Amino acid sequence: MNTKALHQISYGMYIIGSRKGDKINAQIANTVIQTSSEPPTISVCINKGNLTHEFIKESRVFTVSILSKDAPLNLVGQFGFKSGREVNKFEKVEYKLGQTRAPVVTEHTLAYLEAKVIKELDVETHTDFVGELVGAEVLREGEPMTYAYYHQVKRGTTPKTAPSYVPEEEKAKKEATVKMAKYECTACGYIYDPEKGDPDGGIPPGTPFEKLPDDWTCPQCGVGKDEFQKVKD
Ligand code: FE
Repeated sequence: MNTKALHQISYGMYIIGSRKGDKINAQIANTVIQTSSEPPTISVCINKGNLTHEFIKESRVFTVSILSKDAPLNLVGQFGFKSGREVNKFEKVEYKLGQTRAPVVTEHTLAYLEAKVIKELDVETHTDFVGELVGAEVLREGEPMTYAYYHQVKRGTTPKTAPSYVPEEEKAKKEATVKMAKYECTACGYIYDPEKGDPDGGIPPGTPFEKLPDDWTCPQCGVGKDEFQKVKD
C-alpha cells in the first residue's frame, strides 16, 4: 500500500466556527464537502481533541468561512496553530455571529455557510459532522484558497491534529538542502527560507534570518524570532 496516493486528494481551506453557550471558537479545516443538494447538507471532519469539536458536540451548530486565496498566512496561523483554550482567536479578526450565533470570519472570506448537525460519524481520531444548511451568504468575489495553494504558494504547514498531517513532511523539511540557513518555527513548523523572504511581512527575498528585524514574528503563528531554530543539514 502506498499512502502517498492520499496526497492526490484535493481540498479547500476553511475556518470552522462553533459555540458553547455564548463562548465562541473556530479552527482551520480542509475537509468540508457538500454531501447532498435537497435539502443542502455539508460535512466537516474535526479532531476530537480540538475545542471546536467540544463546542459542536454541545451546540450542534457550525459555520464554514470559505477563505480567499489572498488570506495571509497569519490568519491561517491564528486559527490553525493556536488553541482557543489558550488565546482568544477573535481578538484582532473581523467576524460576526451568524443566525446560529456561531462565529463567521468576515475578512478574507468569500462566502460562508451555517449548518445544524443532523448526523455524526465517529472516525477514530476525528468526528465527521454532517449538517443541514440553515444559512449561507456570498461576501465578495474572488478565488477560494485550495489546500495545495496554501502549501505550495503560501508555504504553510500542517498541524499534527489535522487528518491530512504527514510525518514525512517534517522529515523532508529537515533533509532540505541549506545554502543560506533556513530557520524553523518551533511553535508551528513554518520554515523561514531566506531565498524567498517573507513577502506578506515586507521582507524581500534574499534576506538572511539574522538580518530580520528584532520585532519580526512568524508569519504563520506570530511567535518571535527567539522561537526559531536553525534547520540542520
Ligand atoms: Fe510559527
